[in-house]
Amino acid sequence: MSAALKDLLMARIEAEGPISLADYMADCLMHPQHGYYATRDPFGAGGDFITAPEISQMFGEMIGLCLAQAWADQGAPKRIVLAEAGPGRGTLMADILRTARRALPAFAQGAEVHLVETSETLRAVQAATLEAAGYARADVTWHDSVHDLPEDAPLYFVANEFFDALPIRQFERALDGWSERRVGIANGTLALGRGAAAQIAALDHRSNDTKAGDVVELCPASAPIMARIGAQIEARGGAALIIDYGDWRSLGDTFQALQDHAPADPFADPGAADLTAHVDFEALAAAAPCAHSRLLTQGVFLERLGITARAQALAKSLSGAALGNHIAAHRRLTHPAEMGTLFKVIALAPHGAPFPPGFDGPTP
Ligand code: SAH
Repeated sequence: MSAALKDLLMARIEAEGPISLADYMADCLMHPQHGYYATRDPFGAGGDFITAPEISQMFGEMIGLCLAQAWADQGAPKRIVLAEAGPGRGTLMADILRTARRALPAFAQGAEVHLVETSETLRAVQAATLEAAGYARADVTWHDSVHDLPEDAPLYFVANEFFDALPIRQFERALDGWSERRVGIANGTLALGRGAAAQIAALDHRSNDTKAGDVVELCPASAPIMARIGAQIEARGGAALIIDYGDWRSLGDTFQALQDHAPADPFADPGAADLTAHVDFEALAAAAPCAHSRLLTQGVFLERLGITARAQALAKSLSGAALGNHIAAHRRLTHPAEMGTLFKVIALAPHGAPFPPGFDGPTP
């Protein structure tokens, strides 16, 4: 199946010339017939990678508590839009709703659930997960784009490992500007090459902290999404929690392919591997200037929300291998050598409202 995508890409490049990494990534991940997400459910032990909500229910519980408390702190508005972008299997949303129903039931009752997902395969998995959690298909609305979310209510928004799947462009600093890395054909197969150097306005702010040969990435699709979310939160109220791996500022080549839990060549078998890049949180924050934003590491965020006390409470009913797995899951989510430091959480809140719990303290 993926040989078909390789043939399509080669034919396109032969006709049009080399394409940007963003165009390549978009086809590999989202091509309606041959794209990675369009053709499979890649999560879990049997898939290519495992994400925080699939590691432990505690992840979604902490996110649910954080969003529900942010809602209470803003006066508990009656009708709200509770939206997730890139929900994968739907596990995070199911855990958020379960936790909210217990801790602050009015949050769950007033929440219209909206999921932004382009893959039909994953939409079906999400529907099944939420159905098992007590939400009929009719209670959930799917959208292709964040821009289609209802605008007329406070927005409580979450996205875990969504922005890392959005297509990126790569630029290499040259002596006289930036040359874009493009996917072309060399020796009869797909290969990365470089275009001529040009001035790139979006990289003007990087002229002082980069030198010739440095690689910087841009994710053009992320800014309009952040602008839309930020504007609604500022105008109507709400909060956003965006969790992903990356740093405050992009530097270096972070484009990577993962297949069967192992790194792979991103150009060998298009559509068969998960392709991601680190998220530039500075760019996310800058694209939503009307809302307040603050960044924490995932480990500090989860600790501040009380994950260790929750882990101890859950441990009481576990023994043997289940207890071992549970302890490993807590460590995996929080420890600096695992996901604790590489993964970051950025929170958005309207000016004048408190930051969501965890973000009100000093930034470590
Ligand atoms: N949040 C989930 C899944 C992360 S994988 C988890 O933590 O387990 C990325 C998810 O984003 C998948 O559901 C994928 O289908 C979806 N996705 C990727 N690009 C997208 C886009 N441009 N628009 C909407 N959904 C997208």
